[in-house]
Amino acid sequence: MLKDKLEEIKLLMQYAVPKTRLQQATELLLRYKNDAIGLNLFHAFYSFLPEAEDDLILSLSLLDRRQGIFLIRASTILGNYIYLVNREKAEFFGPDTQKKWDRILLKFFGYSDSKSLNKRLAVPALFDEYKPSYQDENLCPVCHAADGEHHTFGCPTEICPWCGGQLTNCNCRFNQLGRDQIKTDSQINLFRKKLAKKGRIPFDSTKHRLSFPAMEEKKGTKG
Ligand SMILES: [Zn+2]
Ligand SMILES: [Zn+2]
Repeated sequence: MLKDKLEEIKLLMQYAVPKTRLQQATELLLRYKNDAIGLNLFHAFYSFLPEAEDDLILSLSLLDRRQGIFLIRASTILGNYIYLVNREKAEFFGPDTQKKWDRILLKFFGYSDSKSLNKRLAVPALFDEYKPSYQDENLCPVCHAADGEHHTFGCPTEICPWCGGQLTNCNCRFNQLGRDQIKTDSQINLFRKKLAKKGRIPFDSTKHRLSFPAMEEKKGTKG
C-alpha cells in the first residue's frame, strides 16, 4: 500500500514540480518511502498545491506529536505550510504566517491560543527535522503512540490488560461481553468502557522491543 501511494505521489509530482528540480524533490520523497506519515503529507501537498503554482517540498519539520497525530511544517520554495498528519491522512491547515488557528488543533497540542503557536512558528531554528516515524524506536511502529500514551483503539500491538496477550487477537473481548461475536457500535463502546475501567496498557518502548523479536530482526538486517 505504501508502494502504491509512493507511485501516485511520483505521478502527481510530474505536474507539480518544476522539471529542473524533479530530482531534488524525488530524493526527499524517497527518504520517506516507508513512512505512512511522510507519504500522506507529500500526497496532500502534491495533490493540492497551496499556492496553485509549481512548487516542491524542501524539508519537513516536526512541531508537535501526540497520540499518533503529528503537526508538521513543510518548507517549500513558495512558503511554509502546516499539516496535521496521522497514518490515515494529512490535512492542510494553512501557511505558517496565518494569524488564527483552529481551536481544536490548538487545544489538542496544548497551545493556549493562536499567539502561542505563532510564537513557536516564528523560531524555525528550534524545529527538529521530521524523521520517518517507523524508524523512531520510541513510537509504536503501528499507530505511532509515544511512550506512556495509549495506542489508537484497534492497534494490533496493544497488550490486553486481562490476559497479557494481543488485545486485538485474544478472546477477552468476547469473554468480557459474554458473547461470541461483536457486531454493533454499542457493543464496541461497551467493551471500550470495560477496557478503560480495567486500565489500558500504554505503549512502552522498552517492553515493546522485547516482545516483538521479529521487528528487531528486520532492523538488524537493514544494518
Ligand atoms: Zn500502537
Ligand atoms: Zn486478553
